Amino acid sequence: MEGALTARDRVGIQDFVLLDAHTSETAFLDNLKKRFSENLIYTYIGTLLVSVNPYKELDIYSKKQMDIYMGVNFFELPPHIFALADNAYHTMLAEANNHFILISGESGAGKTEASKKILQYYAVSCPSTTLLDNVRDRMLLSNPVLEAFGNSKTLKNDNSSRFGKYMDIQFDIQGDAVGGHILGYLLEKSRVVHQNHGERNFHIFYQLVKGGEEDLLHQLGLESNCQHYSYLVQGECANVASINDKNDWKTVRNALSVIDFDERDIQDLLGVIASVLHLGNVQFEPDSKGYATLNNSAELLWVSTLLMCAFFFINIQVLSPFTVDHAIYARDALAKAIYGRTFTWLVNKINDSMENKDSSRKTVIGLLDIYGFEVFYVNSFEQFCINYCNEKLQQLFIQLTLKSEQEEYEAENIGWEPVQFFNNKIICDLVEEKHRGIISVLDEECLRPGEATDLTFLERLEEKLDSHPHFVTHKLADKKTRKTLERGNFRLLHYAGEVTYCVVGFLSKNNDLLYRNIKDVSLQVSTHLVALPNCKTATCQLWQFDDVLVRHQVKYLGLMEHLRVRRAGFAYRCRYDVFLQRYKPLCPATWPYWRGVAAEGVEVLVQHLGYLPDEYKMGRTKIFIRHPRTLFATEDAFEV
Ligand code: ATP
Ligand code: MG
Repeated sequence: MEGALTARDRVGIQDFVLLDAHTSETAFLDNLKKRFSENLIYTYIGTLLVSVNPYKELDIYSKKQMDIYMGVNFFELPPHIFALADNAYHTMLAEANNHFILISGESGAGKTEASKKILQYYAVSCPSTTLLDNVRDRMLLSNPVLEAFGNSKTLKNDNSSRFGKYMDIQFDIQGDAVGGHILGYLLEKSRVVHQNHGERNFHIFYQLVKGGEEDLLHQLGLESNCQHYSYLVQGECANVASINDKNDWKTVRNALSVIDFDERDIQDLLGVIASVLHLGNVQFEPDSKGYATLNNSAELLWVSTLLMCAFFFINIQVLSPFTVDHAIYARDALAKAIYGRTFTWLVNKINDSMENKDSSRKTVIGLLDIYGFEVFYVNSFEQFCINYCNEKLQQLFIQLTLKSEQEEYEAENIGWEPVQFFNNKIICDLVEEKHRGIISVLDEECLRPGEATDLTFLERLEEKLDSHPHFVTHKLADKKTRKTLERGNFRLLHYAGEVTYCVVGFLSKNNDLLYRNIKDVSLQVSTHLVALPNCKTATCQLWQFDDVLVRHQVKYLGLMEHLRVRRAGFAYRCRYDVFLQRYKPLCPATWPYWRGVAAEGVEVLVQHLGYLPDEYKMGRTKIFIRHPRTLFATEDAFEV
């Protein structure tokens, strides 16, 4: 008879720190896989939460589950995103300082879903009043609205974020969620006018066309058929099995009303969305001199009507005749600018509705959810920006965990064998260094209109970065690599892997040029919303653990290094005076006063409590405690 499996054999270990010393990457993956096969998608590395996307609904996010995690010590229950949210909340209240939760992972990893779960947790579990319920409803409902306008189907993810989002959730002194604020970063505007095969435009367009009521579509001059709009058909996937645009339309329409959008706002907003679709259908043909002429003015009339700016395109044509290519460029630039400004307006409007006007002191929990690292067959300026953002995020992660943790041990004189890790600062510098970094070179080239091209930009990069270990082009490559690199491309060795970028379009996208005449006109548009000042792939298969993909992410997120630091390190640390103040009632020698040096008092205290030598270390200014369980036992001693 086979021996019965122990729970540990079956479900793995819930905190990697407890795995045997010298854990290999294979053992790490085995543990994740074991847990995944038992529907356990969360595992800790100390206070870091690792999550594996299940791609199916799990019954682990109910109100009942939230109640279980509320106010319970972090390590006392199985790992969960709610435990993380709860821990941040209670530490924020206890220490009266701000916290933030950083969510990292490649496109489709589940970052946005995680951020929504955290927000739901706060909305449901924090103390409540009718007034605050309104604020919370708005915070929650801002999600479907922002996703409709800022997310889209890509080859990696059917609901991929195409903008970065940082959200502050504000709490008053009692811990009530009283307000919120969103910062949106770098919306991928080019998607409005161009989508790769297998990808879509932003969700809102399909939602409106498929779900919009007959009267509404009539008012906006729209057909209820996506195939009618050239901005919606390039990717040839207007219908996606996992997306129900009609239902999503109802959700968004309802959410807009709750978030304080009045009928005029909604009318303007939808007018702008419709105008972009009409604009995409404006076509040109060359006249006898080769200048662009409109081949049909009906769509343009709709644009003018919806944006309330009469015949501006015709005026522009009179002022400066365009070739057909220029006219198309100008049309697309206008569409992108209109959409970009609308998005900014939308975020501002949502912020107004979540604003807390009470000036009393607040603490915040910040949630950062950006677009994940992505690599496609052809990568352009958009991927360059997205991947650069992820480099910065990784740098922050390193600073806050691996680096600062080890620096603190050093500063406190705690005996420590340093853990080596790859610091991606070298890649951040490659992108952002003054005069030499890719962005500087690109900006300089953009200041030489008429002379600079995408190819001269590449040549400049080759001059400045010819021996950089993370930058390579056809010209700079060795013989073997050269075969894999076409001219006109450059390759960056990112922390998360190699990406080859095609330089075509880098200059114009960086310029984000809106022809001056159009800008003048669009600034006069009387719709208040536009006239604002400038301002399933590999992971999507149901319930399969993809070893290669998971291994890749474990590697590039530096989880093994993180584990090494955590295992050798200390879960908890506290200044001597603070520790003594808190726990002195537990020892007759320190209660009610300890008259000597705080560090000595702490030593007396922990001896009295029976701490073993391996369980703690005395630093220069702080005590370091290895396992949370030691501290829990000390807390429990109050109740005895
Ligand atoms: P991107 O960087 O492209 O924005 P992302 O990391 O934000 O990607 P999500 O949009 O959060 O990825 O997740 C992709 C999809 O994975 C979701 O639409 C959902 O279908 C599924 N998913 C993610 N997390 C979970 C979860 N906890 N439970 C069930 N399904 C999930
Ligand atoms: Mg996302």
